[in-house]
Amino acid sequence: MENTSSTYSSSTTGNRSILPADMISVQEARNLILEKFTQLESVSIPIIEAINQVTTEDVIAQFDIPPHANTGMDGYAVIAEDTKDASYSQPKKLSVIGYLPAGQIFDGSVRSGQAVRIMTGAPIPNGANAIVPFEETDEYREEIRTNNTEKTEVLIDVEAMTGANIRPAGEDMKKGTTVFRKGTILGPAQIAVLASLGLNNISVHRRPIVAVLSTGDELLSPGESYRNGKIYDSNSFGLAAQIKSFGGIPKILNIAKDNVASLTHLIREGVENADFLITSAGVSRGDFDLVKTVLAEEGQVGFWTVKMKPGKPLAFGVFTKKSGTQVPHLGLPGNPVSAMLTFELFGRPTIFKMLGKINAWPRPLVSAISKDKIINTDGRRFYARVVIDETNVVPTISLTGKQSSGILTSMAKATAFAICPSNVKAIEPGDSCEVILIDRENNYYGEAILTQKNDY
Ligand code: AMP
Ligand code: MG
Repeated sequence: MENTSSTYSSSTTGNRSILPADMISVQEARNLILEKFTQLESVSIPIIEAINQVTTEDVIAQFDIPPHANTGMDGYAVIAEDTKDASYSQPKKLSVIGYLPAGQIFDGSVRSGQAVRIMTGAPIPNGANAIVPFEETDEYREEIRTNNTEKTEVLIDVEAMTGANIRPAGEDMKKGTTVFRKGTILGPAQIAVLASLGLNNISVHRRPIVAVLSTGDELLSPGESYRNGKIYDSNSFGLAAQIKSFGGIPKILNIAKDNVASLTHLIREGVENADFLITSAGVSRGDFDLVKTVLAEEGQVGFWTVKMKPGKPLAFGVFTKKSGTQVPHLGLPGNPVSAMLTFELFGRPTIFKMLGKINAWPRPLVSAISKDKIINTDGRRFYARVVIDETNVVPTISLTGKQSSGILTSMAKATAFAICPSNVKAIEPGDSCEVILIDRENNYYGEAILTQKNDY
């Protein structure tokens, strides 16, 4: 039999912060949870893997980018003075002494009266100080449009300024400069910059491994054949998808049965193999709800009633691995929408904190006008599933359908959550309210209406 002795750390259970008073606000709950997380250690990984991760050291340019002065146009490398007074009717004739594609160096030197035919990106030949694009030479005239790499003479139609079409060495980054400070979030453009510096690996905070445990005798795994009285486990998948989209690595465990042995065994498996354990169901009242019992037996844990809807019951504690490392545990409600909403509000910030971007978790908020009546009867903050229409200056929102906590399809249609404050009994059509944009990765939005708050 599984040894059921204390898995929750007794050394951390003296901390009363996980045992708050009965009813707490969303913000209080989030703060108590976040206290138990720290950013994870640094690892060096391939740059492409590091998208949306945070650098743990400064990135310094080891050489100039671009490394050589090079041409920004296909054309002729010339000495600007040689083109003085050139015009279409009185072009200047230069002799072509070479052809230079990108990636090669011209070994000679351009002297007065000479030009090198050169392609975009190629280093500027010694002696040359301007690039005349093909369009400003006879190469572009109607009668001789053909590309001619054997050309021995070129007619220059326009006077070139010194430096014309030359991209100087170090124009983008100068050797020795700090390109990114430690703590930079890597988006696609930052990753391109790393590649341009020749880096294939980068040091970032490791992604957290988050174990996901669904509990309940009624649950079947997707793919299993249906049996009467059962439902498919959607929580594991909705939560794992959220974990992934927030930047974590989900690890879906087997479904726990509603008995102490099964739960204890799987909780331990999760704790040993993850940085964070999420369970769903079993934190509300119910005959077979054993999560609470098991957790309570294993050590101290906070069972909270959070002033929000959907998703009132929540459990939070900290386990300890055999190695001594702490693993926080978040026990979410079982109803699928409650599970996903609570994970959005409490899980997203923890993953961001472990990734080292604690201030980046808040979603953009906008004010919008409601088209529907949104009823909020029981004095909790209500997060309504809505679609937002942003075609007008002031966006509007409409409910996506039934709002009870088991209705996943109204969640699937939602592009935002409208917040109805706990002390507001109804948002009437035409009323304005705050809306959390949940389908937008980047916080780009019209500045006038965007607010960046961390207490929604
Ligand atoms: P409980 O907290 O165990 O009372 O569960 C509350 C509701 O959520 C019940 O209707 C459960 O069947 C449902 N539920 C619990 N876990 C899951 C899950 N993993 N997937 C889908 N529904 C679930
Ligand atoms: Mg249950």
